[in-house]
Amino acid sequence: MIPIKIQCGCGQKYAFDVEPVNGQMSHTVACPVCGMDGTPAANEIIAQTLTTQSQTAPAPSRMTQPSPLPTRSGPSTAVPLRPAQAPKVSGKYNLGLGILGAIIGAGVGVGAMYGFFSISGFRFPLLGVGIGLLTGAGARILAKGSDVTLGAISGLIALLAVLGTLYLMYGTFPAFNIVSVIVSVYVAYRVAAK
Ligand SMILES: [Zn+2]
Repeated sequence: MIPIKIQCGCGQKYAFDVEPVNGQMSHTVACPVCGMDGTPAANEIIAQTLTTQSQTAPAPSRMTQPSPLPTRSGPSTAVPLRPAQAPKVSGKYNLGLGILGAIIGAGVGVGAMYGFFSISGFRFPLLGVGIGLLTGAGARILAKGSDVTLGAISGLIALLAVLGTLYLMYGTFPAFNIVSVIVSVYVAYRVAAK
């Protein structure tokens, strides 16, 4: 039963209890003084009462649920999430650093190959592979990732590095070393482009 209190337009107040049917008055009511129809006003009160009841009814169960949730999931999920995300942000892929890495790797490769040549007096057999690997690896490590652009740039840097190394060794570019050049470009590209 829903208690209905109606203030009529004439100033008369009247109250009664009603069992609503489909959220509406099951019968009409009229003001006992002026006889004006009070049903629409009563329907409005029923609707208000029903919505307040449906809003307040789930509230106790909602209030008991969130209290154990923050204590369980709150500290356990929020705390590990932050350290897991922080390195991802700092470890973001960086093409500029990757190019720098390729140059450093190529430089190391040139130094190693030319050093080997200076000491042993002959050219390192896998010169192209060595410089290509170092170039691609340097690019990949500093870029913290790999992609086709980085691979292409690494290939170009490896090409220049091999040509430079051969020029250091022979004072010119020997045509038969074209294989080393192609291999270095291919290896650098494969390493830095994934
Ligand atoms: Zn009235």
